[in-house]
Amino acid sequence: MSSADIGVTGLAVMGRNLARNFARNGYTVAIHNRSYARTQELVDQFGNEGSFVATETVAEFVKSLRRPRKAMIMVQAGTATDTVIEALAEHMEPGDMIIDGGNAHFADTRRREAALRKRDLLFVGTGVSGGEEGALLGPAIMPGGATEAYASLGPMLESIAARAADGTPCCSHVGPDGAGHFVKMVHNGIEYSDMQLIGEAYDLLRRGIGLEPRRISEIFAEWNKGELDSYLIEITAEVLAHTDAETGSSFVDVIVDQAAQKGTGRWTVQNALNLGVPVTGIAEATFARALSSGNVQREAARQLAGPNPAEHEVSEDMIDDVRQALFASKIVAYAQGFDQIAAASAEYDWNIDLGACASLWREGCIIRARFLDRITEAWGANPALGSLLAAEEFSSAIAQTQDSWRRVVATAARVGVPTPGFSSALSYYDGLRSERLPAALIQGQRDFFGAHTYRRIDKDGTFHTDWSGDR
Ligand code: NAP
Repeated sequence: MSSADIGVTGLAVMGRNLARNFARNGYTVAIHNRSYARTQELVDQFGNEGSFVATETVAEFVKSLRRPRKAMIMVQAGTATDTVIEALAEHMEPGDMIIDGGNAHFADTRRREAALRKRDLLFVGTGVSGGEEGALLGPAIMPGGATEAYASLGPMLESIAARAADGTPCCSHVGPDGAGHFVKMVHNGIEYSDMQLIGEAYDLLRRGIGLEPRRISEIFAEWNKGELDSYLIEITAEVLAHTDAETGSSFVDVIVDQAAQKGTGRWTVQNALNLGVPVTGIAEATFARALSSGNVQREAARQLAGPNPAEHEVSEDMIDDVRQALFASKIVAYAQGFDQIAAASAEYDWNIDLGACASLWREGCIIRARFLDRITEAWGANPALGSLLAAEEFSSAIAQTQDSWRRVVATAARVGVPTPGFSSALSYYDGLRSERLPAALIQGQRDFFGAHTYRRIDKDGTFHTDWSGDR
């Protein structure tokens, strides 16, 4: 019987909770999983939450959907996703829709969308952020794909999405083919950057000033009441306040200091290199995770010379400087992420509305933060800003914080606490505002050794100097 409004296949943590979210919002949801046990478990545990149609085979799953069908995939990105798409497509009919809510690479989404379009099937690659809890209670949703697909799917996604304080759903059509997954990828990149900056702030308070985790937790909780108000600052305060039940030690002190990664930060940086967009914050954050996991190099470097932060007196006056440096660096990280989205939008003809994109992240997702309202307003007021840093709101905020920012970076270098995020953000800021950059010298060098030519400031055209006479 074809009765379900939507189907979800892949019922691990994310799929199960998204299916429950659809059902709680009044939709009849067909559910399917490669191994039937998970399907059965969902019905047993949560069947009373709404209307589910449990199915055992892909054919049964597809058949249970009302036409035009909408089937959402929540499985591992990569070959598993291709396998499931093919299995669904074999049973679908023209006009039906497959939605991939996994963390696919946007290039895969472009390929899949084009291939399914040829088979008269609609394909929507959508970013879903917010983890397990967000999937159930309201995630931020970033759908790509054809406008025609969003027309029928959009209202369903909007009904299960998180809502911003003004009541707007954190879901809107991002753009064609891979645009949704691209924006989700950059969201994750910014998340890397944000987490790294928070980590550096913690390190400066801990090793630089010598504060204990509990005190730092209180400081983060205090910061969360101001312009830094965000989910990541909030959970940082909680993690730092947590005591390890087994040892009675501060929880953060019993965790191995090697940050793992699943790959979306790396994808963001790889793409930024291809597009030629400097996302230094995301790159430094990704490399900092790699450095933390580089056992061989860390072991080899243990005896290298340098200051011991514990032997330097850094006053508690620096606490507020660190807060301001964190805010300024965070603005830079977001500005760079939006530059990357703008560049990709131009490259792939996606026509992404940057203000609308910022508004998607206001609730539900990991980087949700109070200042995303201000970013939304900044892009809304002037879509041709050039850089988020140029918005009056943010340029004046940085003008006020920059003395603190410079003091923090200088102090960190003096006492030996690494701050790749803070330092690179400040260098990026100074690079952008420099009237003349040493790039002129680099052009001279390139012309000298490779006849690569250069442009002049006083006349049009490209020039080459015959350097042989100078040797
Ligand atoms: P997951 O661990 O990534 O994937 C497990 C699911 O994939 C299971 O349902 C599994 O079926 C199915 N699966 C794996 N290989 C398959 C294959 N070859 N054919 C059919 N099904 C296959 O699950 P998840 O953590 O819920 O994440 C789902 C997707 O959402 C992923 O793409 C993930 O990156 C993305 N995502 C996750 C989060 C998060 O916080 N976890 C947040 C946002 C997005 P069996 O039960 O039969 O093994």
